[in-house]
Amino acid sequence: MMMEQQQNYIQTHVVQKKTLSQALAILTLKPSHPFEFKPGQYCTVVMDEIARPYSICSAPHEGLLELFLEIVPDELRQSTSLTPKLFHLNIGDTVFIRKKAKGLFLLDPTASTHVFVATVTGIAPFISMIRSYVHGYYQPMLIQEPFYVFQGASYGDEFGYDAQLKSLETTGVLRYIPTVSRPNEERNQNWHGKTGRVNLILEPYLEEFKIGPKNTMIYLCGHRGMIEYLGNHREKSGKPLGTLVKKGYQTKEEIYF
Ligand SMILES: Cc1cc2nc3c(=O)[nH]c(=O)nc-3n(C[C@H](O)[C@H](O)[C@H](O)COP(=O)(O)OP(=O)(O)OC[C@H]3O[C@@H](n4cnc5c(N)ncnc54)[C@H](O)[C@@H]3O)c2cc1C
Repeated sequence: MMMEQQQNYIQTHVVQKKTLSQALAILTLKPSHPFEFKPGQYCTVVMDEIARPYSICSAPHEGLLELFLEIVPDELRQSTSLTPKLFHLNIGDTVFIRKKAKGLFLLDPTASTHVFVATVTGIAPFISMIRSYVHGYYQPMLIQEPFYVFQGASYGDEFGYDAQLKSLETTGVLRYIPTVSRPNEERNQNWHGKTGRVNLILEPYLEEFKIGPKNTMIYLCGHRGMIEYLGNHREKSGKPLGTLVKKGYQTKEEIYF
């Protein structure tokens, strides 16, 4: 990277790498200079002139950038795909990020009930918000109920933060409902939890928990299909509004791919 370009970037080093499966890893980066961000924002990782946004799982007070990464599937991989390069990184390797964090996928201060809905790595911004909340980042008035956290994945070994979320559930901070969409596959033989796509299981839970549209914000993050099914995203014209929006719920949306 050229010297003049470096002014726009911060150098980071990989300090931890946790591989969950062939497709998923959690990478922790230590910035060489302070990197400010709000819970829910993303950083832009740059390698070999390729730049991609990644939501930050860590909370601002932690001083580290934790990223939950899914590698692009083989059949979609290009020479310009960044994730194969990120998966090859090892502890001590250098990675550059753009100097400014970005994104408006933040906790809504006007809502009193917060429902988080994620597909796999889409849990990242919610982890940052939850860790920040536990650390006292938000005004106490902002959160009057536990967070409701729904996470969908194909397999039970893909959740990434399930142990942390289950542990917080016992303290009353949140309710965590993980669900797998391929319950009959061998890889899920030890899965005894909820089954079905997260967008399909959500609404019965909203009824059970008596979560109506008033003062509720539903945050949708991850795969486009889940978000289009539930939310307000109408990039492809002619698509109908999602099921939650039709029922009067307010949504915030962050589409990854
Ligand atoms: C605001 C924002 C935050 C994001 N945060 C995260 C994050 O926290 N973790 C994360 O893993 N990704 C995140 N992404 C996605 C990320 O920026 C990249 O798009 C992704 O990592 C693929 O990059 P790539 O260069 O490897 O693949 P590309 O070469 O860009 O992808 C090639 C093609 O494959 C599709 N594709 C890429 N990855 C997948 C996939 N896993 N499943 C299905 N199709 C795919 C792309 O849409 C594209 O059509 C985020 C995206 C946005 C917009």
